[in-house]
Amino acid sequence: MSIFTKIINREIPSDIIYEQENIIVIKDINPQAKTHLLIIPKKKIETINDLDNNDKELIADMFFVAKKVTKMLWISEWYKLWFNVWKKWWQEVMHIHMHLLSNL
Ligand code: AMP
Repeated sequence: MSIFTKIINREIPSDIIYEQENIIVIKDINPQAKTHLLIIPKKKIETINDLDNNDKELIADMFFVAKKVTKMLWISEWYKLWFNVWKKWWQEVMHIHMHLLSNL
C-alpha cells in the first residue's frame, strides 16, 4: 500500500486542502516552495506509464482540481505543475501525483 493510499484512508495524518470523490489534495510534507501541494488520485496508479484509456477523465480532473484549488488559494496567476516519472529515482512515491508549486 502506498503512503498516499494510507493518507486517503486516513490511516496517517496529512494536511488536506481539498477533496472530491476521486481526488485528494494535500500539502507536501517537505515543501519546495511557499505553496507546495500534491494532487493525488484516489485510484492507485503507480506511474504515468501505467495509465490506460479508462483513466482519461481522472487525469483531466486532476488539472481541473489544480485550477479550482489555485483559485481557492488566490494563486491562480502564478503556479507550476509537474509530474515526476522515473521509477526508483525521481519518483519517490509509486502512486501518481501532480505537484503544484507557487511562491505566492
Ligand atoms: P515524488 O518524488 O514526485 O514521488 O514526490 C513525492 C512527494 O511526496 C515528495 O515531495 C514528498 O515530500 C511528499 N511526501 C512524502 N510523504 C508525504 C506525506 N506523508 N505527506 C505529504 N507529502 C509527502
